[in-house]
Amino acid sequence: MAKYIFVTGGVTSSLGKGILAASLARLLKARGLRVTIQKFDPYINVDPGTMNPFEHGECYVTDDGAETDLDLGHYERFLDTPTSQANNVTTGRVYLDVISRERKGDYLGKTVQVVPHITDEIKRRMLLLGQSDDYDIIITEIGGTVGDIESLPFIESIRQLKWQLPKEDYLVVHLTLVPFLSAAQELKTKPTQHSVKELQSYGVQPHLLICRTEYELGADRKRKIANFCNVGDDCVVEMRDADSIYDVPLNLLKENLDTTVLRLLGYNDIVAPDLKKWKEFIKRHKNPIHSVTIGVIGKYIELKDAYISIYESFIHAGAKHSCEVKVVQIHADQLSQQNAAQKLSHLDGVFVAPGFGNRGIEGKLSAIRFARENKIPFFGVCLGMQCAVIEFARNVLGVKNATSREFDAKTKNAVIDIMEDQKKVTHLGGSMRLGAYPCDLKKGSIAEKAYKSSSIFERHRHRYELNNEYLEMLEEAGMKATGVNPDSNLVEIVEILDHPWFIGVQFHPEYKSTILNPHPLFSAYIQAVLAYSKTRG
Ligand code: GLN
Repeated sequence: MAKYIFVTGGVTSSLGKGILAASLARLLKARGLRVTIQKFDPYINVDPGTMNPFEHGECYVTDDGAETDLDLGHYERFLDTPTSQANNVTTGRVYLDVISRERKGDYLGKTVQVVPHITDEIKRRMLLLGQSDDYDIIITEIGGTVGDIESLPFIESIRQLKWQLPKEDYLVVHLTLVPFLSAAQELKTKPTQHSVKELQSYGVQPHLLICRTEYELGADRKRKIANFCNVGDDCVVEMRDADSIYDVPLNLLKENLDTTVLRLLGYNDIVAPDLKKWKEFIKRHKNPIHSVTIGVIGKYIELKDAYISIYESFIHAGAKHSCEVKVVQIHADQLSQQNAAQKLSHLDGVFVAPGFGNRGIEGKLSAIRFARENKIPFFGVCLGMQCAVIEFARNVLGVKNATSREFDAKTKNAVIDIMEDQKKVTHLGGSMRLGAYPCDLKKGSIAEKAYKSSSIFERHRHRYELNNEYLEMLEEAGMKATGVNPDSNLVEIVEILDHPWFIGVQFHPEYKSTILNPHPLFSAYIQAVLAYSKTRG
């Protein structure tokens, strides 16, 4: 039977609940425990797959094809263990299940209510991952802030679980803010007191308080918070603003978060934490020997969260090569054939991001052309790969109006076309080609050299594909399909041979890069970018 830790947040959003959950999980894993993290989100969307990245940041995809909150990306990157469909639950998902059951007649004769029917379904899902023998500890992060109307059923479920789970298998951790008032030159504990009172008013007494702060809390203030909030003296933990998210586990280790948690959960004989590789990563990340500049061309550039897995992948791979990766975010809308040279010449690498829809496509094509003609290392992901094919078809093959069916439904030159089984799709939620699929790599290709393997599994999220009717022409002209799905023949990777490093992938390698295991393609890309930057002097 697994033990359960629930992480709630108070005072404001954006305090870093996801990073806290991931850091705590990392510390517990470092002590040999098998840990997973799940996120319960209060919104009505069944999953974030239908949301614009401006609304909710990146949509992360798991091996089993779940479209999830971006926090699951942090969980995987910190923990190095895959998550699944079961690790992200939304209010919408819960209601959908309960209402479908009601329609089937499963509750016949009963009034279906938030308590107990919705809370029963929430609790069932909260306990689900712990039913297998795979985990010792399940950490559940509750999205939103305590006091929000929409997260109430989640908080109520946590309250009920207190009476269902053995005392030593149940822990509530509450993350709050201790703001610094510059007028008073003082850290203030009142918002934390109020936030805990709010939680207590729902019947939930947190065991541990994690206080986000700009300055040191100090023993007296910790004692004061403990006293007012009804927790043990050693159960107030400082979570100071850090230089980088990777410092957070080590900062929390200094605060003995892991030993306190282990004590509260009744573990008394547990090995010392092994964080050697983590520390090595931080050392390399913070003391780079080299530096490169990569232009990321996309549509949601203003919002860092929109491409978070990509930026993180650069950091993982950069650290591996002791290389600082400076990312220049370039709005696809602002690029054209005329200004490409001016905007891109200073770059050591060009990266074209995934995306949907027509906006910014011509800018992306201009960037790809510039990288191809000037032999700048190029990496395109998903839509970035599709654009690379369109650009090559237009400017090398001479198919003047080559495009994707996504941008022009009636085109006669769909070098990128809709996948056969996508033609019958009527509902847009959860209906893309999602999750991990196998891919065979051509011998001697950039991809095969990077992966050091001839067969890989990568995660997908798309509806369109390279139209195989054009493949022979593309290959003859020098754009090769070097990764192909063995079952469907779908082209997953294209490379240009007459170029030092030009690769487009239909899948999303960024979802599988972790701190301790940088993704092979990102690693190879940084290596190529670094080599190119050296040639420029
Ligand atoms: N819009 C493209 C498709 O659906 C690419 C998707 C993506 O970049 N994730 O195929």
